[in-house]
Amino acid sequence: MTPPVRFLGAGGAHDVTLGNSAALIEWEDKTFLIDCGFTVYPRLVEYRLVEKIDAICITHLHDDHIGSLSALLYHRHFLSKLPPIPIIAGSAELFAKIYTYLHFLMGEVEKFAQVLYPSEFASHVLAIPTARLHVAHMPSCAYLFTSKSMNILYSGDIGEPVPILHDAAWIAAHQPLYVFHDIAFHHTPTHCYYQALYPFLGQVRLWGYHCNPQDAPHDNKIPLVHDTFLLK
Ligand SMILES: [Zn+2]
Repeated sequence: MTPPVRFLGAGGAHDVTLGNSAALIEWEDKTFLIDCGFTVYPRLVEYRLVEKIDAICITHLHDDHIGSLSALLYHRHFLSKLPPIPIIAGSAELFAKIYTYLHFLMGEVEKFAQVLYPSEFASHVLAIPTARLHVAHMPSCAYLFTSKSMNILYSGDIGEPVPILHDAAWIAAHQPLYVFHDIAFHHTPTHCYYQALYPFLGQVRLWGYHCNPQDAPHDNKIPLVHDTFLLK
């Protein structure tokens, strides 16, 4: 079974060519956009997807994950004349920061978006807490999409494997589990070192993103999304 995931970009924070990491997930008849960094809005326009999105999940507030969110919201409101779109925030901290960010940029947030917790939007989308595992000041979360036939975990940026993956019972209860994980090929506290993901290779179906495949060392065993899941 192929998970219904398409990446709009799968590069690192400054990789304009590979694009900011962001994905579309088709789930329970709805299209979710995960993250909306500064390269994402132009690609949504290019692929005529601006109007196709039903909700936006935000993992954290770095520019490569939120930098074109207001452009997307303005487009949907003024050009597409669409009602406010749900923006899903996985924690109270993230909720407050997303709301404040949009308020600074756009004024009346409610005209353009409805900031919601996952449980207020859909029972099959859950947030997995990862606060401060990317950078110290930054609230963040991973998102889990659940269904009877498969589950998808999207890590967001994180300096280590998403902690819940260390819970073997949790993994067993969520099979088949497809994991899209932030990956780095050098040691850094802000992204997950590729070898740290090796223990999970036999337990979940895993792909790495937020990297340049050309930087992958020869011993890398983690498949990358670039070949299979990138929207072309
Ligand atoms: Zn990033």
